[in-house]
Amino acid sequence: KANTITRKFDVVIIGAGGSGMRAALELSRAGLSVASLSKVFPTRSHTVAAQGGVSASLGNMSEDNWHYHFYDTIKGSDWLGDQDAIEFMCREAPKVVVELEHFGMPFDRNPDGTIYQRPFGGHTANYGEKPVQRACAAADRTGHAMLHTLYQQNVKEKTNFFVEWMALDLIRDEDGDVVGVTALELETGDLYILQAKAVLLATGGAGRIFAASTNAFINTGDGLGMAARAGIPLQDMEFWQFHPTGVAGAGVLLTEGCRGEGAVLINSEGERFMERYAPTLKDLAPRDFVSRSMDQEIKEGRGCGPNKDYVYMKLDHLGADTIHKRLPSVYEIGVNFANVDITKEMIPVVPTIHYQMGGIPTNINGQVVIKKSEADYKVPVQGLYAVGECAAVSVHGANRLGTNSLLDLLVFGKSAGKHIVQTVRNQAEHKPLPADAAGRTLARLGRLQESKSGEYSQDIAQQIRTSMQQHAAVFRTQASMDEGVLKINAIREKVGSVTLKDKSKVWNTARMEALEVDNLIEVAQATMTSAAARQECRGAHTVYDYEHPADHHEFPLGRNDKEWLKH
Ligand code: FAD
Repeated sequence: KANTITRKFDVVIIGAGGSGMRAALELSRAGLSVASLSKVFPTRSHTVAAQGGVSASLGNMSEDNWHYHFYDTIKGSDWLGDQDAIEFMCREAPKVVVELEHFGMPFDRNPDGTIYQRPFGGHTANYGEKPVQRACAAADRTGHAMLHTLYQQNVKEKTNFFVEWMALDLIRDEDGDVVGVTALELETGDLYILQAKAVLLATGGAGRIFAASTNAFINTGDGLGMAARAGIPLQDMEFWQFHPTGVAGAGVLLTEGCRGEGAVLINSEGERFMERYAPTLKDLAPRDFVSRSMDQEIKEGRGCGPNKDYVYMKLDHLGADTIHKRLPSVYEIGVNFANVDITKEMIPVVPTIHYQMGGIPTNINGQVVIKKSEADYKVPVQGLYAVGECAAVSVHGANRLGTNSLLDLLVFGKSAGKHIVQTVRNQAEHKPLPADAAGRTLARLGRLQESKSGEYSQDIAQQIRTSMQQHAAVFRTQASMDEGVLKINAIREKVGSVTLKDKSKVWNTARMEALEVDNLIEVAQATMTSAAARQECRGAHTVYDYEHPADHHEFPLGRNDKEWLKH
């Protein structure tokens, strides 16, 4: 039987990656009591894996400015992004990047001392005319540098980190307000109720619903699962970005920064085929477009290797010096995951699942927003915020531009932090906890403890991943998605009777995995159902039964045309 221990904080943040730590900084600086929970040590959060850069139009106004960034992001989103949120993000970008620099972020430098920026897919000058250098980079370890910088600032501001704690469920009172969370301390196995005036979800992506993904094993969509179980609908879940250059067979990412530095994609005929598909941006077209072009090459028999099922990326012409200076991690990945020395040989690549555009619906203050009825506008759920990859504000729409995610973490982490400070400061008391505050969690834990005859959680997780890979990965068909919905619904039936192999209390990783399956299935079901329902091609959602629409959308919505942007 689990006893619960209750503790009170002004704010509880679930997740200590880039977004959670950027928000935590605002709160700790303002003197609020903050609990920052993470399944892993903060600097091992998945932001550490980000390679290529963080976008901001830092150049002088004629070379680059936020209007161009704004245009590229809306176009890149396949016209589905929220244009007000995109405007806010692109205007804020230079400020948050310079702020990060002042926190001590070790960006690479140009000879004149300014921040080094490289071109990235879909980022252009003068509304699509030519690629622009907008990705601020620290070699190909930008996320690593950013995460360490934010961690150090949080240590300075005395943020309370709760490391190796797993948040399980949101606590909502009878008004529907969020008043706390339940969480498991893994080291002791104790269950806690963390009462708070505000809860911020910053749990990152959920790429582990797929079998082949560039994501870490901890990316199981816990924040999305918690929101869904608490009755909050998820948004845009059909949109999963596939990155064009995952190492074939390994799923490990080779940053788009490679192509930013001048790498090119090559088919079996030795042709640089992106010149045919995108004569202006070539290999630096947006990711959805490059991946579709690669797939077309493979389908038409110009794929490489014995099965003609991948293409090559060529980097040797950049020279060993540039590769070791600008792309040191990519060099290591080549040796370790493909047995290829990229300074001398081409490396095999395929589109690989990478990033979730959808998530928990929020506004630009990070407040979680829902519709109370179909006819209503969305209104905030009091006490609940979400930022980072788990949130959908939605600046990425149907397809994210590379380097806009690290930017999203900084901009919306900061704005959510500021909004929480203002709100919580005026709230003298915590709202009372409902009588059954830990009810849902105790039921989940009790079900696992008493389970006897169901399948093991790792087998169920594998079934989810295999089905998602087969029915909802990079390229989709309507029939396959419809079949996928039935399969995922059937797997969901089995999740309720998962059997726990190890029922001990302390550091029980089997229990943790079983609890993660509850989240995986929520995300998988939302993804599969939304994908089957969207009967068109849009951004990353490519369905072979439908044509990709021509680029005919009015831009920007309600503001007539590009002329507006020139103001
Ligand atoms: P994360 O950094 O994933 O952090 C999530 C946090 O939540 C972790 O601390 C985790 O422990 C915690 N957590 C999760 N569940 C729980 C729970 N139940 N209880 C407690 N804690 C929990 N984007 C760019 O803009 N530029 C790039 O160059 C770039 N490169 C990338 C390269 C790779 C290989 C990948 C996979 C992504 C890349 N991205 C890039 C995307 C970007 O890195 C991510 O979208 C972003 O870092 C996510 O940050 P986050 O703060 O939302 O979550």
